[in-house]
Amino acid sequence: MRGSAEKAKVNMPANQRCADDLDLSPAHAELSPESAAHDPAPRPPLSMRAANLVAILAPLVGFIAAMHYLWGVGFSWTMLALLVGMYGLTAIGITIGYHRYFTHKSFETNVVVKAILGVLGSMAVQGSILEWSATHRSHHQHSDRHDDPHSPNTFGSGVRAMLRGIVHAHFAWLLDRNPRHLRRYVPDLEADPVVRVVSRLFPLWVALGLLLPGAIAWAITGTLTGAFLGFVWGGLARVFLVHHVTWSVNSVCHIWGTQPFRSHDHSRNNPIVGILALGEGWHNNHHAFPASARHGLRWWEVDLSYLIIRTMALVGLARNIRVPSRERMEAKRSRHASRAA
Ligand SMILES: [Zn+2]
Ligand SMILES: [Zn+2]
Repeated sequence: MRGSAEKAKVNMPANQRCADDLDLSPAHAELSPESAAHDPAPRPPLSMRAANLVAILAPLVGFIAAMHYLWGVGFSWTMLALLVGMYGLTAIGITIGYHRYFTHKSFETNVVVKAILGVLGSMAVQGSILEWSATHRSHHQHSDRHDDPHSPNTFGSGVRAMLRGIVHAHFAWLLDRNPRHLRRYVPDLEADPVVRVVSRLFPLWVALGLLLPGAIAWAITGTLTGAFLGFVWGGLARVFLVHHVTWSVNSVCHIWGTQPFRSHDHSRNNPIVGILALGEGWHNNHHAFPASARHGLRWWEVDLSYLIIRTMALVGLARNIRVPSRERMEAKRSRHASRAA
């Protein structure tokens, strides 16, 4: 086990080995004199930010309105509990499991919690642990440059390019991706038998995530209609919500928000996504300190995922939690941090 992990580390690409703590910022970032003088990327035009705000909030308002008007017909307290419960569990599978644990190794845990996090993340229907982590490490390595798999900022200037970039970053990139050629980013995970087994059984976890809420609703209501509605709200509707919130981290959080830290890309802190995505929307913080388990670095930056990790530590389920020191944060603070904040 130790031997295979060591071998995996040796096989990692050179540009990744130098980022030995999985702080996958571009390798030259700390060395280049130009980088030292780097200012935050210019803010996108107001029209772009307004379009993004409407794109985030309008469907959400429509979704809440649909739930309101369906209350007592196709929606109820049982369905609301299944929707919220499955959203929370599978979102945690992505934010704490896939992202902070498997991809960035920002804390350690035991093998049972590792497997549970892998299964919950798989239920979010965003690919296996190996595919998701490989794609995300590639994103950090090439953030907002040509080889970034889902940057909204590589299509040039102008309204047309802007719209193409948003659509690409939000979901269109998924249609062209081939995560298999990115496997070179995850030799450490491929050497992990738990990750291999959970990843291989990905279709099973997806099916379980869709059918489980239906089975719970059937047990509660005792009707097939109830079971179907449980499948719809706790399964399909929940996947829809988790997808769009996660994708908003890729699209919105590279366009709209503040840049308190120098990160050498267009990543931004967006409070709306920060709350909806359980802390993942503090994305400029994350790109500045990728290996940190804490994304909301100021007291008012609500980071539910980090609070859960701290709670896990209190009961012995998480250890060696990584956060940046005050000195590191000061060293990376943007010149315009006070204005941006
Ligand atoms: Zn990013
Ligand atoms: Zn990341």
